Amino acid sequence: MKGIVFLGPPGAGKGTQAKKIVEKFGIPQISTGDMLREAVKEGTELGKKAKEFMDAGALVPDEVVIGIVRERLAKPDCEKGFILDGFPRTIPQAEALDEVVRELGKAINYVIALEVDDSELIERLSGRRTCRSCGAMYHVKFNPPAKEGVCDKCGGELFQRDDDREETIKNRLKTYKEQTAPLIDYYRERGNFYAIEASGDIDEIFSRIEAILNQ
Ligand code: ADP
Ligand code: ADP
Ligand code: ZN
Repeated sequence: MKGIVFLGPPGAGKGTQAKKIVEKFGIPQISTGDMLREAVKEGTELGKKAKEFMDAGALVPDEVVIGIVRERLAKPDCEKGFILDGFPRTIPQAEALDEVVRELGKAINYVIALEVDDSELIERLSGRRTCRSCGAMYHVKFNPPAKEGVCDKCGGELFQRDDDREETIKNRLKTYKEQTAPLIDYYRERGNFYAIEASGDIDEIFSRIEAILNQ
């Protein structure tokens, strides 16, 4: 069983590294951000509730995201493991996660915190581009596609997220410090916690993660 939680500020590379784990270990990525954006795009009740918080760079209420994760973790593809990317983001979410995994007979075996300086986070987020079709992540400077605006993997169109603009980025970093950073101590005290330096080459960072997951 590989139950993995990725902690880290916006732009730390959680999505980028989670996709590499999916390829290598064959376990699903559970990104609450992706699920919420999908709901906003489809205009569901959930999406309507979430949109104003996301646009402001604030967190969506705990009970909303906890419900989504509870449902998702119960699906059969999570049997051998899962990577939670962007959840939990508050102490009540972490407590709810403990309860959900217990109910489902699963475990959180690795909590990996990705550490990157603020100045680099801002540069990463403002240059981030995502594929509309397959969700692959790029950066205009650090990880550009072969052809501008086009996904290398599927030929899809690359777009910039609404919340990757300067004002919202600042709010998101503030939200992280106030509400999510306390989770580092929460998990550090319970074991299975690993902090890694997450700047530099994407493949080198992945090697550090692999070494943790293979132990
Ligand atoms: P990032 O790339 O900044 O880590 P995400 O894609 O994970 O961002 O999340 C985008 C937005 O979705 C967040 O700013 C927040 O509004 C909302 N969101 C995602 N996950 C959660 C969560 N676990 N709890 C509350 N809100 C969340
Ligand atoms: P998160 O999911 O934590 O918000 P992402 O994986 O979306 O972060 O990465 C944010 C941006 O930074 C993306 O544009 C991505 O291409 C880029 N990026 C990811 N890892 C690195 C790295 N090691 N060095 C430089 N840029 C990176
Ligand atoms: Zn694509």
